Amino acid sequence: MASGKTHDKITVIMSPFAAGIFFLINFSKSKDIGNIIAFTILGVAVYIFGGYMFSGDVDIESVEFNRWGPLKVIWRLYQRLFSHRSIFTHGFILGPAIRILYVYGIYLIICALLYALDVINLSTSQLIKATALFMEENKQLSFNIIVALFLGSGLHTLTDLIYSFFKKIFKGKKRPRRGKKRKNYL
Ligand SMILES: [Zn+2]
Repeated sequence: MASGKTHDKITVIMSPFAAGIFFLINFSKSKDIGNIIAFTILGVAVYIFGGYMFSGDVDIESVEFNRWGPLKVIWRLYQRLFSHRSIFTHGFILGPAIRILYVYGIYLIICALLYALDVINLSTSQLIKATALFMEENKQLSFNIIVALFLGSGLHTLTDLIYSFFKKIFKGKKRPRRGKKRKNYL
């Protein structure tokens, strides 16, 4: 598995490429250059968040996990539910999809508690409806955010796969070292 620093570097290096994707997406949806630039910046910002904090490595005690600060506690259950680098955390589609639903689920649970304590007056079903309505009314915003989260996480998985592939090749070519390992060959 590539280190957190490697992932960070690749996320930054690929950010112009991500900017190109968001520019094209928004260029196809709008003719207003201000709108296109604003959504491109938002897309890149969320993409970087996706790589730095929302990647599959929140499934272990990683750099990404620790960046959540006191909020990292929310990922404890996630780490218990899914094993490291499983398709549920590192899958190109399942990984980010489950994480988005997971965070949203936690948000709903907290709101349900606040509702039970009379702090807020929106029930869980009303909140879900409000979210759906917000996404419907802000399609471009929602689409950019979702694509950005998938892109940031996807790049992480791709890096892990490439890293593992080359590690295997180089490991296979390595000659047996002296000492402990050599015993296996005797
Ligand atoms: Zn990983």
